Parts: sequence; structure tokens; C-alpha cells
Amino acid sequence: MEPCFTPAELEQLREALYAELRRHAHAMTRVPAVATAGRTRRLVDAVRRMEDGVYGYCLRCRRAIPFARLAAMPDVPTCIDCSWAQEFPHHQPPRGDVAP
Ligand SMILES: [Zn+2]
Repeated sequence: MEPCFTPAELEQLREALYAELRRHAHAMTRVPAVATAGRTRRLVDAVRRMEDGVYGYCLRCRRAIPFARLAAMPDVPTCIDCSWAQEFPHHQPPRGDVAP
């Protein structure tokens, strides 16, 4: 699989992902684990993809996820189209300048 980011971009995303993981670990000390279990799994899965060198690809359609979307949500597992399709299966995603 071709890398979808430059090494500098990937490093930036790696830092964002680990920063998010630290924030989440801190949050877990204040709320019941059951409330954070889904997020924990998403973060752990994202770290695993990062370490496996397959980070940044949509788990549903396998296309590269835009850098800005990952920078904003480092553990996001799908591209915007797939996340719309999952959340609103009967609606088309809006076209045009969609937020990442
Ligand atoms: Zn997708």
C-alpha cells in the first residue's frame, strides 16, 4: 500500500494521535470505563494501524482519509463519505465544501 502522507505529515499525525491517547487516558481516571470503552478501542485500533504502517486509510472503502480530517480526529477510522453512510444510511452526504 502506498503511503498517503509525507513523512512530516505522518509524524504530525502520530503526535496528534498519541496526544489524544494521553488526553483520553486522563479522562478515564474521572469517568467509568464503560463510558469510554468505545473511544478506547478506536484509539487503540488507530495506534495499531499507525504502528503497522497502514494508518490513514478508510476501514470501509480503503481510500486515503484527508490529512485535515485526521489532524482534527486522529482516531477516526473512516473517510467522510463512509462516516455519513454509516450514520445516515438513507441520506446522501452533502456535496461541496464539507468540513473534514
Ligand atoms: Zn471510506
